[in-house]
Amino acid sequence: MNPVIALVGRPNVGKSTLFNRLTRTRDALVADFAGLTRDRKYGNGVLGDKTYTVIDTGGISGNEEGIDAAMAEQSLLAIDEADIVLFMVDGRSGLSAADEAIANHLRVNQKKTWLVVNKTDGLEEHSASADFWQLGLGDPHPIAAAHGRNVTSLIDEVLEPFPPREANAAPPDISNGIRIGIIGRPNVGKSTLVNRLLGEERVVVFDEAGTTRDAIEIPFERRGKPYVLVDTAGVRRRKNVKEVTEKFSIIKTLEAIKDCHVAVMVLDARSGLVEQDLHLLDYVLSSGRALVLAVNKWDGLEQEAKDKMRTEVKRRLGFADYAEMHFISALHGTAVGDLYPSITRAFDSANSHWSTNRLTTLLQDAVSEHQPPLVHGRRIKLRMAHQGGSNPPIIVVHGNQTGSLPEAYKRYLINTFRKVLKVRGTPMRFEFRSGD
Ligand code: GDP
Ligand code: GDP
Repeated sequence: MNPVIALVGRPNVGKSTLFNRLTRTRDALVADFAGLTRDRKYGNGVLGDKTYTVIDTGGISGNEEGIDAAMAEQSLLAIDEADIVLFMVDGRSGLSAADEAIANHLRVNQKKTWLVVNKTDGLEEHSASADFWQLGLGDPHPIAAAHGRNVTSLIDEVLEPFPPREANAAPPDISNGIRIGIIGRPNVGKSTLVNRLLGEERVVVFDEAGTTRDAIEIPFERRGKPYVLVDTAGVRRRKNVKEVTEKFSIIKTLEAIKDCHVAVMVLDARSGLVEQDLHLLDYVLSSGRALVLAVNKWDGLEQEAKDKMRTEVKRRLGFADYAEMHFISALHGTAVGDLYPSITRAFDSANSHWSTNRLTTLLQDAVSEHQPPLVHGRRIKLRMAHQGGSNPPIIVVHGNQTGSLPEAYKRYLINTFRKVLKVRGTPMRFEFRSGD
């Protein structure tokens, strides 16, 4: 699991400036969960051989009332989810009452806290920091987020206790079977579905040995085939679904998405689609994970409600139309078994390998069926295709003037490749390289 760094401080100290700097690395994936968390923002970053997750918070002003109170609550939730807190203060405006109030919060919280003095550009570091010793949070660390001054060395020091983890680490281990992550917002029926999947007659559940920090891995076997269920927000730990919902943890959800081979995203037919669903789905999509959609609570719905939901998912989930969709009832078990063939197909598609010969022939067939357009009197040429990666599959197409290829033509190619190669349930990426 990535170390999680929360940026905390009153408004205007430079949190979002630092957030942007920390997540603007090549492999950073910024998940802007505006709809999921109001104003917490999540991003990933890389430094040397280590990766980390950063949470930017709305900010605590130290004078919490009304809207500020809501923002403070966001900050407190972020602190809760974090391993490390970077408490930011402003080296130009000096110590304020708000800083002291926040420092009091943090002292009680007992999370590993670093006191960071920002905006020290053009200032003498020692004198800019001197004021802040009295906060009693240890050494002040002077930085200038806007200019990058001391930022790398600070993060290097912050991450010191955490083991290295390659940004592009190998995909999750397959030796124990396909890893399935059940994800979705609270109350859509994840816990019910997990219990249903594991409670099936044909299913043998092994010891729940693999507990890694917050995530639980549940190995099981169905019809002789091994699987591992990656438990997201502790759904398995709730013996009784009537128990109070555990706090929905975005970090755990993001981690489970990264840690599984196939994400099963649960939607709730009774409440319809909401912004949170779309944000979560967007994240699955950009992470490149294979995906199966399960529209739950399909039991006892009127025909009219069913039609409405079908239309809605078709209209709003067009961007995830590569995923197979099932209408299920986790409560009664209806169609739950149908998820497995889709999971297997999605996994197989994501990990397919095709020869250069096959892909090039397919490309040439597609091109002769439907020529790319002329650009400045010259026809765009597409000569050859090879596979540049898998999970998700990447197809690299070589030719001339590929930079001018219209989006519509790219879509035509992607659709053709998908159809002919029978790729289901995984995103597919195309890269175009040009010889001139
Ligand atoms: P937030 O409200 O804590 O997220 O603060 P922002 O990141 O929005 O920054 C508030 C203001 O401080 C902006 O005008 C930034 O350009 C400025 N700022 C941020 N970092 C620095 C810095 O290192 N030096 C200086 N001089 N200004 C900075
Ligand atoms: P989670 O927060 O996503 O884990 O959701 P739960 O599994 O705790 O389910 C939330 C509520 O929805 C509970 O009251 C469940 O009994 C109910 N529920 C779950 N699946 C179904 C279903 O297929 N049909 C109906 N009618 N209710 C369901």
